[in-house]
Amino acid sequence: MKLKKILLNILYPDFNFLIKNFMAYKKIEHYDEDVTKELMQNYRNTIRLIGENPDREGLLKTPERVAKAIQYCTQGYELDAKAILNSAKFHEEISEMVIVKNIELYSLCEHHMLPFFGKAHVAYIPNGWITGLSKIARVVDVFARRLQVQERLTTEILNAIQETLNPLGVAVVIEAEHLCMMMRGISKQNSVTTTSAFHGEFEKQSTRNEFINLIKADLIKRR
Ligand SMILES: [Zn+2]
Repeated sequence: MKLKKILLNILYPDFNFLIKNFMAYKKIEHYDEDVTKELMQNYRNTIRLIGENPDREGLLKTPERVAKAIQYCTQGYELDAKAILNSAKFHEEISEMVIVKNIELYSLCEHHMLPFFGKAHVAYIPNGWITGLSKIARVVDVFARRLQVQERLTTEILNAIQETLNPLGVAVVIEAEHLCMMMRGISKQNSVTTTSAFHGEFEKQSTRNEFINLIKADLIKRR
């Protein structure tokens, strides 16, 4: 099969702009009141238990802010990746590799509930069906905004695309830095964890190499 490449190299500034607007648009405005109240009580206790005074002026509103922040950062549980992909699924007779690079991601490690963040690179080779490019980025968010491990995040993105578009192949590479490694524990300041998952055509070395070569420039100069 001849694989032409459609390289959708989303430039950082443009993509940041898109993401910011998207976030503003998607921002949760209504938090579950009962959940927020209970979380606030828990965070108030947390503040007390670490030796701080929850009634100190600067901390008075902190439990509420944190309660909302944690709900925002875990809003992926409410979202359905397959429904998002299906909402913009188009019949298209192309079988060129589609790559969406440098998708920013922010997640929370499920072991420490500390952030890990980085970039996802996603590719697929359509088999009659394509999806909106922004939907790929949204699917990354759906799974990132949960308590995660990077390995599972990688395969969940791959599986959602595989099961919805049934493409000839899917590839997902994620590079991320984990604050639980950087600011505690072994304090590895510069370690970047890379995970990858490949399915279908991407299990062939040649196809996989094409994809890796196309994203490699960024793998090297990410800092
Ligand atoms: Zn961790």
